[in-house]
Amino acid sequence: MIITIALRVRAFRTECCKWSGAASARRLPMPARETEAIILKTFPLGEADRLVSFLGLSSGRVRGVAAGARRLKNRYGSTLEVLSHVQIWYVEKETRELVRIQQAELLESFHKAQSDYGLSTGLAVVSEVSELILPEHEVSEPMFRLILLATREVERTGDWTLALSYFAFWTVRLGGWLPRFDRCVACGTPFGSKPAFYDAHQSGLFCEKCRRPGMKPLHVEARNLAEHFAGERLDRIEYEKSMQASARELREAGLAWIESHVERKLTTRALLETT
Ligand SMILES: [Zn+2]
Repeated sequence: MIITIALRVRAFRTECCKWSGAASARRLPMPARETEAIILKTFPLGEADRLVSFLGLSSGRVRGVAAGARRLKNRYGSTLEVLSHVQIWYVEKETRELVRIQQAELLESFHKAQSDYGLSTGLAVVSEVSELILPEHEVSEPMFRLILLATREVERTGDWTLALSYFAFWTVRLGGWLPRFDRCVACGTPFGSKPAFYDAHQSGLFCEKCRRPGMKPLHVEARNLAEHFAGERLDRIEYEKSMQASARELREAGLAWIESHVERKLTTRALLETT
């Protein structure tokens, strides 16, 4: 009899602890998370807030709300500018898709590039591409480093020509969508010094014989530049005027492959032509 009662009490206690444990877990706020991050995009939200998409080094791409960020006096200052490099603190909510951003501190300012119309169009392309290709909550340190490197070089050099070409090439390479640059995908003929051809509808580079109507050329100089990009960091490549045409061809090819992968046109791409 005594034994039975003791067992019942124990069972009751176990149940009791389970319930109170679950209840307190629901009441407790989730702990704040902290990560180094790049701001990808922000949108106005209501009268006072901002919706912010950022790529965290340890969180991947996350969307959240920065409360009060649209007020004249707010605690975020210039930290929420496109491609700002920041340290960010946020709280996740189990039931909601959006996190709550608590604080952001600027680690590195790209003020010159962000405030110049011409340069900011280059940044806008980097931002749009990153936003489209990075899945939410998936950590991608190589893309994080690439975005930062490209943005830093736009800021440092005051020119996006080389940085954007490098960014487009490496985005395609990291994504695993880069075709062979040495021979025709259809017949296998090596290109040698002859131009290769591409479009956004099929993967691969084609020779002069196999090219289809509307395809654009990727000349040997542009393919050599790609090889240079593959083996050297952007900030160690000296930009010379003679590279301009190749950098443009390679950028256009890279952006076409990105558009083909995400199955939509990049809205910021047309802006590049206006600067
Ligand atoms: Zn061919």
